[in-house]
Amino acid sequence: MSDLKLPSRSEDFSEWYNQLVIQAKLADYAPVRGCMIVRPYGWALWENIQQYLDRVFKATGHLNAAFPLLIPRSFIDKEKSHVEGFSPELAVVTHGGGQELEEPLVIRPTSETIIGHSFSKWIQSYRDLPLLINQWNSVVRWELRTKLFLRTLEFFWQEGHTAHATAEEADAETRQMLGVYRDFAVNEAAIPVIPGRKSASERFAGADETYSIEAMMGDGKALQSATSHNLGQNFAKAFEIQYLDKGGILQHCWTTSWGLSTRFIGAIIMVHGDDQGLILPPRLAPHQVVIVPIFKTDEEKAKVMDAAHRVRNELVASSFRVVLDEREGMTPGFRFNDWEMRGVPLRIEIGPKDVQKETVVLARRDKPGKEGKTFVSQAGLSAAVKETLELIQKALYERALNFRNANTVDPKNYEEFQGAVENGFASSYWCGSAKCEQSIKEATKATLRCIPLEQPDEKGTCIFCGQSANEKVIFAKAY
Ligand SMILES: [Zn+2]
Repeated sequence: MSDLKLPSRSEDFSEWYNQLVIQAKLADYAPVRGCMIVRPYGWALWENIQQYLDRVFKATGHLNAAFPLLIPRSFIDKEKSHVEGFSPELAVVTHGGGQELEEPLVIRPTSETIIGHSFSKWIQSYRDLPLLINQWNSVVRWELRTKLFLRTLEFFWQEGHTAHATAEEADAETRQMLGVYRDFAVNEAAIPVIPGRKSASERFAGADETYSIEAMMGDGKALQSATSHNLGQNFAKAFEIQYLDKGGILQHCWTTSWGLSTRFIGAIIMVHGDDQGLILPPRLAPHQVVIVPIFKTDEEKAKVMDAAHRVRNELVASSFRVVLDEREGMTPGFRFNDWEMRGVPLRIEIGPKDVQKETVVLARRDKPGKEGKTFVSQAGLSAAVKETLELIQKALYERALNFRNANTVDPKNYEEFQGAVENGFASSYWCGSAKCEQSIKEATKATLRCIPLEQPDEKGTCIFCGQSANEKVIFAKAY
């Protein structure tokens, strides 16, 4: 049995995170440095994320497909800014079947190029548009500084790729998918996010416009939690993705791409977790409820286990994701700590007295100690569980939102700005100059996270140079 104790979250956030990932059995380190082994518990969480998103992607007209892992090196070179952006991170295959390859292959860092190549074959006329594709896969980017879930050599994600007849349709698609990610983050993961546009320097390599959702982690840093790119005609021109319009004239398509990765699991950990471990939002938790039977004698055991099985069956029948902890030789205290470490939102305790009174104890993961405990009758338990899980989901969101609000500052001057980005987000006017953005980054290590879609009505002055500014933006240190 391992010692279920984490470093203090407030004192050493980074080490708290590292140890939590291991102790909660979400993931493990791999023999190849920087790679990640996702353990069944972490994968179950990812599957719940997948299932939600996949349903929405299909409901908005997208179809899943699978493109190859290996891409000809020459493909990456076709789009100028794409090659500049990705070259340093490429893993290149030079040998196959014991022989040196004539042309090196790259392991996909993302699939715009190979999908662009296919789109150019599949699209001939306006009737073939829009073409709406998604794929669930993993990609490789040779990162030097890695951290489980947040930045790994190989990571899992979905990448959507679409082609459209007009610029307006491509822009609408890009924004629609940003909205899908926003809704997912807020409603399923209980994470408040700021949807916005990226500045030119933070854009995806090869995009005309990149949108992202940005979330504040428990240490005040930002995490880019999903992105949606309007690729304009850049890839269409590089890969000759063309269509005959209604007038019979050959036109280039307008394309988009958008993705959400296992990085999002890092966000869930860092937004909701506490010193006892993980706290999972009920809508995504692999186990929404854990039943912990408590007994001393064999006679008690028989009665308690009988009630525990009954309760489990009833909750399973009501479609809750339930686990019954039947492990022996561990104290109830240890088992409580273990499930707290793993972030199960709701614990049901059943002891001999509960059997007698036909009650159980509900203990909320988000409210430690007595405050989060209630006694409820076994009759009508499903309704009580449903209500409590909804309350937890809501409470997690509100707590995260309050934290973000408390750590977001609208600084009056640059001096205040420098303090603000040490602890959280600075919401400031920016003149739009890349020079101001760069100077701020060099001086404070804070980057321009996004230009929120929601803007105040009035204009202001740039926090750095004092020139007039049309837009308010978010600056923060980021993962
Ligand atoms: Zn400025």
